[in-house]
Amino acid sequence: MRFFDPANIYVEENCVANHAKDIAAFGTKALLVTGHSSAKANGSQDDVTAVLDAAGIPYEVFDEVEENPSVETVVKAAEQGKAFGADFVIGIGGGSPMDASKAIALLINNPEEDASCLYAGKDLKPTPIINIPTTCGTGSEATAISVLTRHEFKTKKSIPYKLFPDLSLVDGKYLKAASQKIIVNTTTDALAHLVESRLINGTNKFNQMFSNYGLKMYASLKPYISGEKEITDEAREQMMLVSTIAGLSIAQTGTSLPHALSYQFTYEHNIAHGRACGLLMAGYVRQYEKVQPDDVAEVLDLLEFDSVDDLAAYLRQILGSQSIPAADLERYSKEMSGRPDKMVAYPGELGYEGLMEIMKESFIAE
Ligand code: NAP
Ligand code: FE
Repeated sequence: MRFFDPANIYVEENCVANHAKDIAAFGTKALLVTGHSSAKANGSQDDVTAVLDAAGIPYEVFDEVEENPSVETVVKAAEQGKAFGADFVIGIGGGSPMDASKAIALLINNPEEDASCLYAGKDLKPTPIINIPTTCGTGSEATAISVLTRHEFKTKKSIPYKLFPDLSLVDGKYLKAASQKIIVNTTTDALAHLVESRLINGTNKFNQMFSNYGLKMYASLKPYISGEKEITDEAREQMMLVSTIAGLSIAQTGTSLPHALSYQFTYEHNIAHGRACGLLMAGYVRQYEKVQPDDVAEVLDLLEFDSVDDLAAYLRQILGSQSIPAADLERYSKEMSGRPDKMVAYPGELGYEGLMEIMKESFIAE
């Protein structure tokens, strides 16, 4: 067993202001990487620029990161960062700007390289990276992962580098600006991380300390996520914390088949990342129950569900249903069944037939 997470993570109210000195210690010129508008609206960008202004650190903002960031966007941001002379990168936002900030830091620190290095897995190091999450789903602030969209292959892929943030500043207050839809989609991503890192070949007691704790915490948040109760400041803090805890768990195990399958649904059918993973979850858990019923029983117990059917009904309630052409479901299952590197996450024989069972439970085949 091994536990490794070198990200220095603080979770507290007014986290950015509290760690002004830590932020300023990383360099002399900062590139801020954000989405189009949320970092301005939720106060996170102002919190960071106030710290940089007070420390006399010049900065530029790149605010063009789209959802599911592309290699092209990362390259454009890195060009701006290099021209400016940035020597550290601050990713502020959901998983998209945080993941992009990691790849941008890699390109800025290696100016002789071009975009092809992002997929070559060379021996390259990034500039220092600071991450500030404003959604409660990806846990990117605790992982080494950067998932980028590759249009030439019509899919998303994580790049083969370990890009842990040096410093992550986690503050639930930024979630105040998030719609119920963003809360639902991103907490479902965190739930998928907890479930997949617990129900995967290679799970161990270290990552289970996080997944099991997180699953129990998630159970107490269900009424806020389903809309039964109005979301309080305390619930926001808990949602953010669950997301970071789930990130610490996948940082040890990686994610399993629902994540691997989700990327095509996001790319080809424009389904938000967390929702795509959530739609695939119950079908996967049902297949897992066939080979490791005790593990599934533990997960369901922690989540306070009586059965996989109960979990499936809850997910349908919060995510709704989704139609997908039957031919696509068959194509995705065929492609995935030919990928032993992904199929090994499931501790049994799943194959095309098993994947199709997951698909049929997850989507309405058109
Ligand atoms: P996202 O794509 O970063 O953001 C989704 C939307 O939420 C955007 O429209 C964004 O607006 C908005 N938003 C962000 N924070 C907000 C706030 N506080 N208030 C209101 N709106 C807000 O969504 P995400 O689900 O967090 O990230 C998904 C990405 O993360 C995917 O690319 C996925 O593959 C990746 N991911 C990474 C990991 C990892 O370990 N690194 C794990 C899972 C997923 P703006 O565009 O204006 O910012
Ligand atoms: Fe995810």
